[in-house]
Amino acid sequence: MRTIAIALAAIICAQTFCAVVQQTHAAPPDIPLSIAEVADSESFLQRATSLPKPARDNSRRVAELLKRMTLEEKVGQMTQLAIGFISTGDGEDIQLDQAKLEKAVVKYGAGSILNVKDQALSVDKWRELIGQLQAATQKTRLKIPVLYGIDSIHGGTYVRGATLSPQEIGMAATWNPELMRRVSEIAAAETRAAGIPWTFSPVLDLGRQPLWPRFYETFGEDPYLASVMGVAFVRGFEGDDISSPDHLATSLKHYVGYSFPLNGRDRTPAWIPENYLREYFLPSFAAAVHAGARTVMVNSAEINGTPGHVNHHLLTEVLRGELGFKGFVVSDWEDIKKLVTTWRAAANEKEATRLAVMAGIDMSMVPQDYSFSDLLIELVKEGKVPMSRIDEAVGRILLVKFDLGLFEDPLPKPKLGFATAESRQIALDAARESLVLLKNDSGILPLARDRKILVTGPAADSLISLNNGWTYVWQGNNAALYPKDRPTILKAIQEKAGNNVTYVPGVAFDQEIDIAAAVRAAQESDVAVVCVGESSYAETPGNITDLTLSGPQLKLAEALEATGKPVLLVLVEGRPRVINHLVDRARGILLALNPGNEGGAAVADVLVGGYNPNGKLPFTYPRTPNSFITYDHKIFETEETGFGNEAFAPQFEFGSGLSYTTFRYSNLQVSPKSVPLNGEVKVSVTVTNSGSRAGKESVILYLRDEVASLTPPGRRVRRFAKINLDPGQSRALTFTLRRADFSFIGADNKATVEPGDFKVLVEKLNDGFTLQTK
Ligand code: BGC
Repeated sequence: MRTIAIALAAIICAQTFCAVVQQTHAAPPDIPLSIAEVADSESFLQRATSLPKPARDNSRRVAELLKRMTLEEKVGQMTQLAIGFISTGDGEDIQLDQAKLEKAVVKYGAGSILNVKDQALSVDKWRELIGQLQAATQKTRLKIPVLYGIDSIHGGTYVRGATLSPQEIGMAATWNPELMRRVSEIAAAETRAAGIPWTFSPVLDLGRQPLWPRFYETFGEDPYLASVMGVAFVRGFEGDDISSPDHLATSLKHYVGYSFPLNGRDRTPAWIPENYLREYFLPSFAAAVHAGARTVMVNSAEINGTPGHVNHHLLTEVLRGELGFKGFVVSDWEDIKKLVTTWRAAANEKEATRLAVMAGIDMSMVPQDYSFSDLLIELVKEGKVPMSRIDEAVGRILLVKFDLGLFEDPLPKPKLGFATAESRQIALDAARESLVLLKNDSGILPLARDRKILVTGPAADSLISLNNGWTYVWQGNNAALYPKDRPTILKAIQEKAGNNVTYVPGVAFDQEIDIAAAVRAAQESDVAVVCVGESSYAETPGNITDLTLSGPQLKLAEALEATGKPVLLVLVEGRPRVINHLVDRARGILLALNPGNEGGAAVADVLVGGYNPNGKLPFTYPRTPNSFITYDHKIFETEETGFGNEAFAPQFEFGSGLSYTTFRYSNLQVSPKSVPLNGEVKVSVTVTNSGSRAGKESVILYLRDEVASLTPPGRRVRRFAKINLDPGQSRALTFTLRRADFSFIGADNKATVEPGDFKVLVEKLNDGFTLQTK
């Protein structure tokens, strides 16, 4: 026995030794991992939602000001106009049109202005414009400052030179809320430096419909992950005091159910039963409201035949009554008008205005005329909208303005630096952690130093594709605005691998260029890095009807695979484009999603640098266009139970992601085994870095309710942690599960806990407990 053990040990040793020798000979040295960690998502959530007492209570000031206001002044505060409506000129040449400014701010007393006219502006230009807007308010009777709002979606996206981090889908792949919080702090400081105190983010819609063009703006398909990341986003932006010059107010959007259109196209009908809405789509909003978010933006589409903007049940009964939201609700773009022109939910704009305001809209993003103000004034005078409703809305808006400190100083001087080396490093850390290694056949990655590399594909040399929409311009597609000093994937690989790199584009996103040239270049190389995916898009222009990767890109990748040279696919995309024809023959697959301006460097760090990837999929990657089912599907939808021919068999599972090291999970313990109905369960597990490189690991704990009165999903994420382990190092993690984790939304739309058996699943380990009847 002993001899066998020694012999085995010798073989293992010899193998390990060989591996180490090969590594040190060929692999690049390690790039240090970011130190941001979260050992327990729930503790993070609890810390993040125990808010400090507000610096001051401004409710008396609100009440006093409200008493002095006329109806017209009040309705003005509820009116939001676009900057393009009151300006002339483009880019840095934009100027406020004095007559239009006077009409908007002085005559109509517009409470808010939004957006960029066409493109991102410099900090100085923003401060000049916002200074002029605030100066105009000084000509009004009550001198109420304007609240400027903008889409800071993945950094200060409309402020030139600001730090840009991954889109939300990439941040979700990090499973690192601490990193999300830090990235948001930077985005807040760099947005407020431009004088802008309000962002229309985060997007808290769930990515459960991959055709939807705003998929990349979400934190993926799981409500718990989206809740934790959403809270981190809000806390990073809002900080402890939104009047500080480095923080600002957030807007949770698009409340609620916007992301689940039946046909996948933006702003088309969704059908979501209320129990499903409450189970999946409401929790992220509830968590972020609990974390103190100041404003909410409304679902631009409809669910179950009721447009978001007239849904009194959701906007008032649920949001205010149940979630306890105290801030104000802003409409989405032109959405009161669209109640007439698109949805046919009102015969005319006046009726639409009444319905929307009475449903709970406090501010209308009009944004390019005065119809909302004129009609609302008429409605109040006719007694069709009570003054109490107006006072309620205006009071909420004024409170945010007071709390932001706008009355004291509408344009505070920034305290922190702008786009510093440190903020760039954090964005790089986030980009690196957002990358998901999906395949690494025989450890082809990381590439050895001396390999001859062909870089090809339409995403190889494109900062646009790395960033996607909401970058400098709405569609993200103005190449001239991207920074010259940020490398694309190609440039970053060239920086690291120098003369060993050849570049042949092969195809554009939707068009062949010269596939034969790429094939010839592959034959001269040791490996082909094929960067495919999507260019940029935002909202409706990004609608597609087929999830499959475009024909020319498939053709390029297949031609390269046919050469027999190792192909490494790099997927730069905002949603999972189907690639099943490529997967088997590709030797490595790295999902980059939309990692932002530092993404080129991050991808090169993983491929040819020494960075050990650690992202995990925040959504299920479908194998075929019509086989999409989320990870939390019903048990009977799996292959094992033989549900039809095309059972659930995703290309890549939710939560998957490889590392250059290995992690061993052991010692899963659940205690107690029999739990009182209101009791707690402790789950502990040990994770060991069993490989030879330092690595980060997202530990995901799933819970399965074995039997329930509504058929239970196979598993649900209930906790996670993101930890850093050196080779050989172990960490024991302990999670506490409570009543809310055992519950689901029942047929009566209420949280229900049913006694019975539960299974805890962590990686390949599982154990169970029984919930007692009392
Ligand atoms: C989008 C919102 C965005 C708003 C202002 C709308 O079209 O749906 O997400 O905040 O425009 O840019």
